[in-house]
Amino acid sequence: MKLIFASNNQHKSSEIQNIIGDSFKLITLLEAGFEGDIPENQNTLEGNALEKARFIFNKLHVNCFADDTGLEVEALNGAPGVFSARYAGHENNAENNITKLLLNLSDKTNRKAQFRTVTALILNGKEYLFEGTVKGNIITEKRGDSGFGYDPIFIPDGYNKTFAEMPLIEKNKISHRANSIFKLAEFLKKDNFIP
Ligand code: IMP
Repeated sequence: MKLIFASNNQHKSSEIQNIIGDSFKLITLLEAGFEGDIPENQNTLEGNALEKARFIFNKLHVNCFADDTGLEVEALNGAPGVFSARYAGHENNAENNITKLLLNLSDKTNRKAQFRTVTALILNGKEYLFEGTVKGNIITEKRGDSGFGYDPIFIPDGYNKTFAEMPLIEKNKISHRANSIFKLAEFLKKDNFIP
């Protein structure tokens, strides 16, 4: 089955292909011959994931999916959430985003947070949403060099190392993105869209 991942992020495409294994082959936008920006103007993860998937479906008329992720911090009423990428300004600057988050949490004892990914699938013209989360805590200083975004300050529950201190293979077993993609893959298998 041909399934396009509606993202220009090659790194994410290979991470997702890695998570789902050989059960189905993702086609990247590059491989599908699409170049250009994908709109992402909504104020919820669900809205953004759907907007991106619908945009690509309307352009290419093939089954596709898109995702959107945010870090939701309990003591900040769910911020930065859908604004995670540009929390500290317009650019996707992980360093500044982390600095701002740690500052806003400096007087908080509740450090609970979760990453949440919403994946929107458009299959044979119908829309489906899959949600994956991972709960954990925000620490007070960065630790580790791998991963990206808020990884150096997030320790998932049940672990004593940050996402940035874990090998990618370990993060991919438990991450928010992995959990939503597992649900997508289960759905495709259950309904016999893939063997
Ligand atoms: P996106 O929707 O996957 O592009 O994620 C939006 C933003 O959330 C990213 O720019 C990061 O700041 C943050 N983010 C998403 N996934 C992760 C992750 O796995 N680790 C750390 N930060 C992440």
